[in-house]
Amino acid sequence: MNMFGIIFNLFWWIIAGILIGMFAGRKNRNSYVWGFIGGFPPATIIVLLILAFMPYLCPKCHRPLKDQERKDKNCSVCGLLSNSENQTS
Ligand SMILES: [Zn+2]
Repeated sequence: MNMFGIIFNLFWWIIAGILIGMFAGRKNRNSYVWGFIGGFPPATIIVLLILAFMPYLCPKCHRPLKDQERKDKNCSVCGLLSNSENQTS
C-alpha cells in the first residue's frame, strides 16, 4: 500500500467513523464501538446496512423499541417519557 492509500484509509476511518458513530448514537447504541468498526474501510457499507436495519433501543432500559413505541416515545417496559408528555394537556 502506498502513502496515499494509507492516508486515504485513515481519513476514511475518521470521517466514516464519526458519521456512523452519530448514527449509532441516535439509535441509543454505543457510538464509539460502532464508529470504530464501521469506519474500518472494507466494513463501512456492511456496518451501515446492519445498523440501518437494527431497531432503536430505549435509552433507559436498552430494550429494542418497536416503530410505534419510538414514535410515541413510550417504552412499554419502563414507560419512558410517557408521563411528561401526557401531563401537558
Ligand atoms: Zn424502556
